[in-house]
Amino acid sequence: MKILVTGGAGYIGSHVVKALGEAGYEVLTYDNLSTGNKWSVLYGELIAADLSDKETLKKTIVRFKPDAIMHFAASIVVPESVRDPLKYYRNNTVNTLNLLDVMLEQGIGKFIFSSTAAVYGNAEKMPVGENAPISPVNPYGSSKMMAEKILRDRHLADNDFNYVSLRYFNVAGADAGCRIGQAYKAATHLITRALKTAKGEFQKLQVFGTDYPTTDGTCIRDYIHVDDIANAHILALKYLLDKGRSEAFNCGYGHGYSVREVIAAAKKVTGIDFEVEETGRREGDASILIADNTKIKRELGWQPKYDDLEYIIKTAWKWENNFHGKYS
Ligand code: UDP
Repeated sequence: MKILVTGGAGYIGSHVVKALGEAGYEVLTYDNLSTGNKWSVLYGELIAADLSDKETLKKTIVRFKPDAIMHFAASIVVPESVRDPLKYYRNNTVNTLNLLDVMLEQGIGKFIFSSTAAVYGNAEKMPVGENAPISPVNPYGSSKMMAEKILRDRHLADNDFNYVSLRYFNVAGADAGCRIGQAYKAATHLITRALKTAKGEFQKLQVFGTDYPTTDGTCIRDYIHVDDIANAHILALKYLLDKGRSEAFNCGYGHGYSVREVIAAAKKVTGIDFEVEETGRREGDASILIADNTKIKRELGWQPKYDDLEYIIKTAWKWENNFHGKYS
């Protein structure tokens, strides 16, 4: 089986390429290397190109003849999406459309999409299930919501096209073998920033908002280890290849931690009492996002292996200390 992976040189994509390679799939990564790195592609060929370049995309698909496509290539930073929404609609929505055009033209009808918990916005009920209203509170979430709608409508129009949309909660941690991990020049995610602060790369860690309607006033997120996310993709792929229905599945553990709890865990794991500063809210943040993961467990048989915040932080910390800033 041949799988084309867009964004396979990025953080989540590279862990999925690793899982695909280990499971014996033939992989080709298509990535513009804007945030990804060549060395993180552990299996298969890498084509360094953008999804807006339909000609290269077509040539690649015609030559490789994938059985399915996994689409990770996207922009993922909530505050950046608030500042530069068009970048998000272009990269996440329009480029998904480009990819669909080209793959459908070549008769490829199996698609796995990287979606996000951000499509739920401030959901009324937590943990949030897949049937909750889709109501994003930032352009990042909206750009993914629109892509999901496109997938759904295309499937309804003709079921020669089937997809699984995986809605990620907060992905963190790194490969236990420490070969790959988060390696963006501008780290924005909480665990990565906390660890970089512990390392001395940042002087202090800011807490964005202490007046949310949560137990300690800071936002709550469902942090999930990247290898558990990778395994969910392998299961989703098998499901789709086995003629599974087009569906969206939440990927999270079903419980969350506040920003303060994550900071306490990061201090414990690193043994470093780094400086923390409480500041105002960051625009676009939902107060609580926790997955109801009943559906993915039931329908895909997904069983999390690393549901342990300290383990997640330990693998990320090991990675931080082994990653020497080599980009691309
Ligand atoms: N956060 C924070 N300080 C940081 C980075 C993030 O307080 O330096 C908070 C952020 O406001 C949010 C939570 O941590 O409430 C998770 O943010 P992150 O950017 O990691 O992921 P997101 O949920 O936005 O995808």
